[in-house]
Amino acid sequence: MATAIEIFKHLPKKNCGKCNFPTCLAFAMQLANQKVKLSDCPFVSEEAKAKLEASSAPPIRLVTVGDGPRKVELGDETELYRHEKKFFHPTRYAIVISDEAGEEEAEAKLRRVHELSFERVGQTLALDMVAVRDDSGDDARFVAMISRAAKAGLPMVLMSERPEALRKAVKEAGLKRPLLYAATEANIDAMAAVAKELKCPLAVRSGDLNALADLAERAVKAGVEDLVLDLAPPRAKDLVERNTIVRKNAVKKTFRGLGYPIILNACGDERAVLKAMLSTMKYGGIVLLDDLDPAHALPLFVLRQNIYTDPQVPIQVKAGLYPVNDPGPDAPLLFTTNFSLTYFTVMADIDKAKVPAWLLVVDTEGLSVLTAFSAGKLSAESVVEAIEETSAREKSSKGVLVIPGMLSRMSGKLQELSGLKVVVGPRESSGIPKLLKSGQA
Ligand code: SF4
Repeated sequence: MATAIEIFKHLPKKNCGKCNFPTCLAFAMQLANQKVKLSDCPFVSEEAKAKLEASSAPPIRLVTVGDGPRKVELGDETELYRHEKKFFHPTRYAIVISDEAGEEEAEAKLRRVHELSFERVGQTLALDMVAVRDDSGDDARFVAMISRAAKAGLPMVLMSERPEALRKAVKEAGLKRPLLYAATEANIDAMAAVAKELKCPLAVRSGDLNALADLAERAVKAGVEDLVLDLAPPRAKDLVERNTIVRKNAVKKTFRGLGYPIILNACGDERAVLKAMLSTMKYGGIVLLDDLDPAHALPLFVLRQNIYTDPQVPIQVKAGLYPVNDPGPDAPLLFTTNFSLTYFTVMADIDKAKVPAWLLVVDTEGLSVLTAFSAGKLSAESVVEAIEETSAREKSSKGVLVIPGMLSRMSGKLQELSGLKVVVGPRESSGIPKLLKSGQA
């Protein structure tokens, strides 16, 4: 990304304010921070536009695989470290089916594709893609397996080094933007020609990063810009090293030759899950796996969720009044904050008690109970406001409000402002079932 001064040099310097900034320099500074668009200035010349657009392109190209609502987007990252800014496009996992797989094996893998789905803190964690590998060398078998796997409705990776087989497969199966994997020194020209003709993204593979950049350049010259890089790391150590070199060169040195998302083929590797985890932590775009059992899938998906969550914005749930275990007007009223982890823990503990209850979730901008209280985002006043907004008093007419144990110091004021009898709950949410079953609430 160009600096503000570099951008400023290309602006018209009229200082007219039509971009909503008083001077061109102020506008340039906002543009350098990606807060505004170049088109907000109506006076930029075509020549300046071309120069600025080239220098403001993301250091890692945005590549889309598939079409429609399940398409996946890769790349378009701007940072080396997650604490500097959010990472945007998470690593995608694909299960690979060989076109030589028998009926039973293919069915089992396709079933697995649907079964690998988990709910965590209100988000669905699932497998993203399916890949089909051309092991048979037989066009008809390859196309048949692709057509079958396409029914899963996920974006696809087509693994073959035979350009003609790929052309036939994409056309006959009617696929939109599958990733063609992979072009090498031996087939780059023919693969690039097919990718261009079919308007598909293309993976290029080499264990030598200089050779890889050359392959990428040849593909771009042939008219294929949506590329994915396979760095072919033999060991876990090489994966971390190569992925880091590529990301650093793309982000810090704006080296366009390596400014593409990264794919890892972990098939046939006994350390496939370890490599998938390292790839998730170190800038991976796609990981191809022979298979993934649920015991490995859940921690892998959770790792990805944690890495691709904005560190500056806690995961939140919607504030409001939530019924648990089908409550009536005589069910107790409890409250907590809208920090996802707190909400789901409290919700699960009330559910576990099998006692009907109303859970009031107060908006604390995603902060947990004590943090919100200390930061002034949770007070007796804000709780009363939430009670009024949600008509909680009418839904739970018991006249009792259970508050988190850590907020005991709020109880007096809350009782006075709300007119409800305040019961101080346990300090840990795990104590809620005991309290609810005791009838004290
Ligand atoms: Fe400068 Fe263009 Fe903004 Fe006018 S609209 S102040 S010329 S950047």
